Amino acid sequence: MKMVKYSEVFTFTDQLTTCPYCGARTEMFLEISESPNQAQIHKCLSVKCGFEFTEVNDN
Ligand SMILES: [Zn+2]
Repeated sequence: MKMVKYSEVFTFTDQLTTCPYCGARTEMFLEISESPNQAQIHKCLSVKCGFEFTEVNDN
């Protein structure tokens, strides 16, 4: 079971995280380590987008 606040979940990659919608840089503003899998809440740095999503480390 994944405890995810946001509707969209993406898996960590080795590459720099970018917004899945607009491709802009994102900012990690919350890291959740209590969950079985480490999760990071990211927010798109584009003011026009501002999309928030959760990255989950499945390893
Ligand atoms: Zn965006």
